[in-house]
Amino acid sequence: MKILMVSPECCPFAKVGGLGDVLGALPKALVSRGHDVHIFLPLYGSIKPKGRRYDNVVVHLGGHERICSIWEYAQDGVFFYFVEYQQYFGDASVYKDGDQKAERFAFFCRSALDMCTSLDWIPDVIHCHDWTTGLIPVFLNTTERGKLLGKVATVYTIHNLEHQGIFPADILAYAGIPFSEFHANSLESMGYVNFMKGALYHATKLTTVSPHYAQEIQTAAFGCGLDPILKFKAGDLIGILNGIDDKQWNPCTDPNIVANFSAEYLQPKKCCKRDLQRTMGLPESSVPLFGIVSRMYWQKGLDVVLNVLPFVLQNLSLQMVVVGCGEPDWEYRFRCLEAQFPDKLRVFIGYNEPLSHKIEAGSDFFLMPSRFEPCGLNQMYSMRYGTLPIVRATGGLVDTVESLNEKTETGCGFVFYDLTNDAIYNTIGWACSIYYDKPELLAKMQRAGMAKNFSWETAAIQYENVYRWAVQQRSLL
Ligand code: ADP
Repeated sequence: MKILMVSPECCPFAKVGGLGDVLGALPKALVSRGHDVHIFLPLYGSIKPKGRRYDNVVVHLGGHERICSIWEYAQDGVFFYFVEYQQYFGDASVYKDGDQKAERFAFFCRSALDMCTSLDWIPDVIHCHDWTTGLIPVFLNTTERGKLLGKVATVYTIHNLEHQGIFPADILAYAGIPFSEFHANSLESMGYVNFMKGALYHATKLTTVSPHYAQEIQTAAFGCGLDPILKFKAGDLIGILNGIDDKQWNPCTDPNIVANFSAEYLQPKKCCKRDLQRTMGLPESSVPLFGIVSRMYWQKGLDVVLNVLPFVLQNLSLQMVVVGCGEPDWEYRFRCLEAQFPDKLRVFIGYNEPLSHKIEAGSDFFLMPSRFEPCGLNQMYSMRYGTLPIVRATGGLVDTVESLNEKTETGCGFVFYDLTNDAIYNTIGWACSIYYDKPELLAKMQRAGMAKNFSWETAAIQYENVYRWAVQQRSLL
């Protein structure tokens, strides 16, 4: 199939979170299954353009045109197309706040479609990712009806329902979307235009990044106001668990860690722990080491960790390393606790990819107390690196982490249900007791986690089926 992926993030060019990882891996898995995959991305100021340049590509917006350039570059069998338009994408920021936010991504959606017609490459299916691409299915059902792209199927993937792209209605005139779409069964939501909502109505098929999250988002508690539409479209919605990039996240070959290891040869993991302790300035002790790598936002539940951490650090014999950034208040509170317990807690505020690999390899446990988690990647990286995840039972964490059952000696992590001080304290305490009292069980859990298959191949087969299903349905139009 001819597949066009449209996304604001794609590893290694631009990554803010898990979406970047998905775009870095899924297209390669689809190419290896014989598909023709093109990816369309903004040329942010941080990306050095290379490859072939097409000039004077016309972007047809509402009643006016803009001229941009498109860069074409092939790597690992995937064709990348970068839209160069200085006014919107000239700086490095992916989700830059400000007056132009809606226009930036309306332009992005429109330019993806105009590139297809300019280069005379008409895909079978356009796979759109998150709110920034939400106008594409709307364009195809409105302005593109009866034209070259009018019969192209769309698959829209929700990576995070919380960010919907909500803007004043004048964006419709800018984009050239008919004002007749400004109603509750299309783009309108409480007097505003909602990009995500438009996509949910107009896309041929919907997916999200885990089966459990696909169920959760149909409830008021997780639906972020869009649960009625998601329930209405439940027959077209499927949860497909993300995979992990086996090349980037492989303890046998990872160049970011001091010693490589595998399930059969786990001994060098100890060297990784020492290296992590040294890197972070912790004493090289044999107490259990807990890792966190996370964006510091409400979704991730780190506020509750901050509440309970003084008691954890005071009472339990352990160490913890934290890498992340986000809410300034949370960053400050982590720093204060680090100053109070320098032998037990070390914090790196910022984004640091090599350090995140060291944490996955060197920690004994990895903490993810998310309020909601569409899929989550770090718990899978952890298991791959023989690090036991401690997670709250939500979204993709439910689909990937089987909690320890001490009677049957099964499981590869620790799952808790309530996001409370007590639940976090007790689960960390449980992990410590297994570490100190049952090292053989701990090793068994490590091996069980490392044996899990999180390959993109499995996900690619499922996406392929959804693409076929979408194309078939669209052809009936
Ligand atoms: P989300 O997309 O909600 O942030 P995921 O678990 O799906 O959560 O993916 C997060 C990705 O971003 C992982 O690859 C994780 O290692 C990475 N990441 C998050 N924060 C940092 C950081 N401060 N430094 C390095 N990597 C980070």
